[in-house]
Formats: sequence, C-alpha cells, structure tokens
Amino acid sequence: MSAPRVVAVAPGSPAALAGLAEGDEIAAINGEVPRDLLEWRSLVDEADLALDVRRGGLETSVELRKRPGEPLGVEVHSALFDRVRTCDNHCEFCFIYQLPPGLRRSLYLKDDDYRLSFLYGNFTTLTRFTEADLERVVSEGLSPLYVSIHATDPEVRAAILRNRRGATSLRWLRALLDHGVAVHGQVVVCPGVNDGAVLDDTLAGVLDRFSELTSVAVVPLGVSRHNHEARMRPHTPDDAAAVVDAVADWQDVYLATLGRRLVFAADEYYLLADRPFPPAVHYGDFPMHEDGIGMARAFEAELGGAGPGRGRRPRPGRVLPVRGRRLRGRGGRRRRVGVERRRLRALPGGPRHR
Ligand code: SF4
Repeated sequence: MSAPRVVAVAPGSPAALAGLAEGDEIAAINGEVPRDLLEWRSLVDEADLALDVRRGGLETSVELRKRPGEPLGVEVHSALFDRVRTCDNHCEFCFIYQLPPGLRRSLYLKDDDYRLSFLYGNFTTLTRFTEADLERVVSEGLSPLYVSIHATDPEVRAAILRNRRGATSLRWLRALLDHGVAVHGQVVVCPGVNDGAVLDDTLAGVLDRFSELTSVAVVPLGVSRHNHEARMRPHTPDDAAAVVDAVADWQDVYLATLGRRLVFAADEYYLLADRPFPPAVHYGDFPMHEDGIGMARAFEAELGGAGPGRGRRPRPGRVLPVRGRRLRGRGGRRRRVGVERRRLRALPGGPRHR
C-alpha cells in the first residue's frame, strides 16, 4: 500500500498555508491511513487535521485547522493507495489485448474496481465484487456505478467474459439495485456472439430482472489491427441496422411497461447503418452522452446553448436527419461530472469500456 503523494497544492489553500508541498507523502490523517480517494476525501473533510507527513525521507507532523468541509487544497497522485482490483476476465473483445506492444505498462492494466466505477465511470463486471464491497457502496452512498452486462443469460455471459464467475456475478447488480444504488448498464455487442437473438434475450432479461437500471447502453465492440481473436470482427452496416432496429423495438416495450426507454444504441450504430439519430428528447437528460450515446444530439444541443451541463434540457423537437463522420472519442474515455472529481487525478489509463 502506498501513501498518497501530493502532486499539487492550491495556492492560498489550508494545505499551502500549513506548508504542505509537492512530493510530500501523507502517511496518516488524524491517525487513519486512507485506502483510496474516497476515504481520503472523507478524512480531509474534518475541520482539525493532524497529518503524518513523510518528506525527503524524514517524518514530520503537520497540524492545521480549517472549516469543516472546506477543501484541503491538495491533489494526490492516484485514486487508489492500496492495490487496484484487477480484472480476472478474458473477454475476446478486450481492448487491452488489442493494444500494440511496447506502450507504457499502465496501459495494459486490466482493472475491475467498483471504486474506479464510482470515481471515473469505468465499467465493472462485478466478477470480483464482494459482500464487503456492497456494504461499502451502500453505506457510503457510492452511486451511480457502471456495470458491464453483455448478456443476462448466465452461460452466455460466462462465455463472453471467459470466466465462470460471469455466470453469477450479476447477482451483485440485483443487490445494488435492491439497495437503491443507481446503475448504468452496458452491452458491448460482438457480431455473431451476443447480437441477434442473444441481444433480444439480454434486453428481455434486463426488463425481467434489472428494470431499475438507470440506463443501458448498447455499444459496438472495437476491433484493432492487433486483434488476435478470430471470432471478433467489426459490425457491417447490416449488423448495425439490426441493432438499431432491436433497440428501437425494445424501447417501445420499455416505454410501454416502464414508462421510459431505458436502452439506447451508440451513435456509431446510426452512422454505420446510415440512419438518422433519434430526436434529442429520446435521450432524456443524456445520462450516457459521454459514452457515445446521444453524443451527436448532445453536441447539437450544446451548440444551440441547451446541451447537457448547461442546466437546460435539449429542446424536444422534430427528428433532424443528422448524419456525419464517425465520432471520435467513443470506445475509451469518458469524463465524469463533478468539479471535485474532475480535480482528482485518475489512474494511468483512465476510464474504460469493458
Ligand atoms: S474487456 Fe474489461 S472485463 Fe473484459 S477482459 Fe478486458 S478489462 Fe477485463
């Protein structure tokens, strides 16, 4: 376990006034050793702080007083000070396996850690989730989380993740929803594997077992030239059209039964199928626009001054036949909302689809 290391101190902040400096390691806060950014945030929220600081190989104590809840003014080197929980799946479509060799080591890290899901919107499969994790998520209100579903049939899901725990780990999704945790789901569609009848079965399974999900994003797998999995191939326009149609059909079902559309196809599908994007009103508050869901409509609305994050909803209206070049940015990174979170430093590699 590493101690949080200071990488930036805000000028004029309580930390700056107390003499904290870049490179300092905070070994303990009021006698407590934080495991991660979540515990750090809770500890530094206190008004009176006694910090055990390591500086240049020496140990020292720093005491400071501030208002309760006042930011300390420190940015630290990582989100996790204990070990990141790594992924024990071996998905055929895994983007990590498709990276070229020779990149920096951190890019090859497969994480599957609910804390990164909360902090940065990383998707977790829950195959390494535990009872203790559930207790922490619920007691600390770590919501929303982002969960990879891929298939609701246990055998199919285990085969996709190439992990037998994939067959049972959606029980944690049920538990999260039972405790009122908001969860965004994702289905990465691999043509010939979990599209067609499997996708229908998955979306039926969502309705049957996980209808409290906040949203479900249906996104296409990415295939790089470094892919070595024979079954993995890009979608054809016909594949994409079939997914668009399936999602539209299920939106009708969800709308009729739940009063909301719940499932959305990635913008990439509409571009590939040469179909118009759904109207902005279909996306509600654009909960997954940074995941490539409604991104084009969000951009369009933002240009008109009513985009997500502007405090106004996109103007509901007619269906505009928006078409364009494939959007950049899908398939990897998404920014999470929250000024405080944005200030926090992500683990190398950042948020990921899985
Ligand atoms: S895609 Fe995600 S869940 Fe699957 S093996 Fe890769 S890192 Fe693990």
